[in-house]
Amino acid sequence: MLSNPVTYLKGIGQKKAQILRQEAGIETIEDLLYYIPRRYLDRSSFKSIRDCFVNDVVSVSGTIQRVGVAGRTKKFLEVEIDDGTDTILGVFFGAIQYYRSVFRKGETVIFSGKVNFYRTKQIIHPDFDFIDRESLLPTIHTGRIIPLYRSTESLKLLGFDSRGFRRAIQAALEVAYETITESIEEDILHRRSLMTIRDAIRAIHFPESFEEAEQARRRLAFNEVFFHQYGMSLVRRYLRETGAKKRPPMDDSSASSFLSSLPFTLTPDQITAMQEIRRDIESPYLMNRLLQGDVGSGKTVVAIYAALLVKGQQRQTALMAPTELLARQHYETCIGLIGDRARILLLTGSTQRQEKAAIYEQIARGDVDIVVGTHALIQEGVAFNRLGLIIIDEQHRFGVAQRSALREKGEDVDLLIMTATPIPRSLSLTLYGDLSVTSLKTMPSERLPIITMSFSESRLPGVYNSIRKYIDQGRQVYYVLPLIDESDKIELKSAIAMYERLRSEVFPDKSVALLHGKMKAEERDRIMSLFKEGKIHILVCTTVIEVGIDVPNANVIVIEHAERFGLAQLHQLRGRVGRGPHQSFCILVSPDGISHESRARIETIVSTNDGFVIAEEDLKQRGAGELIGFRQHGHAGTFEFADLFLDMDLILYAREIAERKVAELKDVRSIWHEFRERRFAPLLSSIRYKKVIGMIS
Ligand code: ADP
Ligand code: MG
Repeated sequence: MLSNPVTYLKGIGQKKAQILRQEAGIETIEDLLYYIPRRYLDRSSFKSIRDCFVNDVVSVSGTIQRVGVAGRTKKFLEVEIDDGTDTILGVFFGAIQYYRSVFRKGETVIFSGKVNFYRTKQIIHPDFDFIDRESLLPTIHTGRIIPLYRSTESLKLLGFDSRGFRRAIQAALEVAYETITESIEEDILHRRSLMTIRDAIRAIHFPESFEEAEQARRRLAFNEVFFHQYGMSLVRRYLRETGAKKRPPMDDSSASSFLSSLPFTLTPDQITAMQEIRRDIESPYLMNRLLQGDVGSGKTVVAIYAALLVKGQQRQTALMAPTELLARQHYETCIGLIGDRARILLLTGSTQRQEKAAIYEQIARGDVDIVVGTHALIQEGVAFNRLGLIIIDEQHRFGVAQRSALREKGEDVDLLIMTATPIPRSLSLTLYGDLSVTSLKTMPSERLPIITMSFSESRLPGVYNSIRKYIDQGRQVYYVLPLIDESDKIELKSAIAMYERLRSEVFPDKSVALLHGKMKAEERDRIMSLFKEGKIHILVCTTVIEVGIDVPNANVIVIEHAERFGLAQLHQLRGRVGRGPHQSFCILVSPDGISHESRARIETIVSTNDGFVIAEEDLKQRGAGELIGFRQHGHAGTFEFADLFLDMDLILYAREIAERKVAELKDVRSIWHEFRERRFAPLLSSIRYKKVIGMIS
């Protein structure tokens, strides 16, 4: 029944079915049942039109009395509704034809929005929805909560406004409710007081109370995270069991001599990380490890150690950074720390053609041990002689799919992902469920914690004085301007103007340079090199310096308009200082009267240097979708029902059960294939399925 097409339902013919498919991805009855409300209206919070006053934000419902075009030059549509206490107008500009066909006299409509007064009460472009008149009456069947559904113009023209969806879903429940089968054992549900799946589906559409709607959401969230964790567990077991390799014996002399050459003592976490990685590299199973550690926690030496171990097995390492600048920096670090213990080459987009050809050949012959480059390195299909390890730095936006594509670049490729953006545990379980996680939590001890302060713009002269003092002591300064989107021309202009002012008026006697994302790569590199060499005192820059740049002599970072940055970004920016022996400072400047949220963000940054704490806070404040960067990158989103912060307990529980179930499987290989091909227990609708499987494979 669930897999029947929607045309099975009375009142839905080919034409409607086609629109449902095109506009909402709904093909089957099951899809329809999983078309969840975008929000609920609480009928008890409706206002009488009589009680609506100017500037109130309200929901009102009433019967349409009149639909008419008005306005002399600029035409608009007025829709007058009456709820028995008074009347109010909904006013619509543009698309008059469309709205005319939508609003019909005598129907009951809900308007939500801000009340205005112009001759009479009105709401300009109200959020609107249709409901049955009966559903406004307090009957037992409807409850007090009205579900509202996402819709489009074409859907609405065929009757699929909220009212239409409500009817169709009601009909679908009537025919299919009994056939919705439970796929999770009762005791598993019971231990977390989760409702049955059929009750959850009914209640998500027609809840008796908001508490019930929340319980339904939790149950659907559980299905989602359980299914996801099950897939992750399968991947882990699959990789473990099918990836067994005979690893060549290891000559660890380069790695050991590297360790004894280091001018500092390793932190306990660095030592643990190295031991774990060594075990992975020697074991017959592929390494899939995430190395996460705050900026400055010393990930690079751990990575180099791994590369040298792999070299000791006669295998090659590809070390990839997100930008050319960082690739070059890594290359120089490697050369400096490794010396002649390994053969290292740099390969980037700007490497000359001829030189490139020569490098390709050396890589293919196996004359190189470590190739440092940007992500293009792997994408361009460079042929390695024997690729053994891929290290990805500062890359927390790789999905599971991209990671598995990487692993396929060689016969037995180990993978080490490094990120300086610590992520909360719920996220690492979700995004990196296929990886083992190592965290560097202790910082190198001789380093002084950064002191962070927040100032209002009016205090800038004082800030300038301190900057001057530190420059006179031989230090260098980052001065960050709020150009968040590098393609924003107006902001760029004001950033440049600000730089001009700093250079010519405030610090005419110092060397001030500008760095932004719209500059040519060579120009950027040139300036960065000058800054590293200490020839620039103040580097005025945009967020291009956000990741990875290492200039230990810089000890002050000023961030103007700190209120415009996100938590993670502020923390990353701050990590540019505090890398040398000098006390470092992070100075956040913002205008007066910023929003409460912005103030809270700034206070969080001032109060802690701990990236893990900040990450938890970030997740709480922003929600997971943004945190991961999915939104910017247009990937399939995260979960629909589960909230990575609020549902942490569910995620852990789902993981525990998924692990257990996968461990009980006899033949993981065939189950894995079945899983991928959706011949699997109907835990999710096919729409959800595609999304969740996209997160796994
Ligand atoms: P990140 O984790 O941000 O990549 P890096 O690996 O770039 O950190 O390390 C930052 C700086 O700290 C480098 O100059 C590095 O040589 C130094 N460093 C690394 N480990 C230690 C340590 N245990 N003690 C002192 N300094 C260290
Ligand atoms: Mg680094």
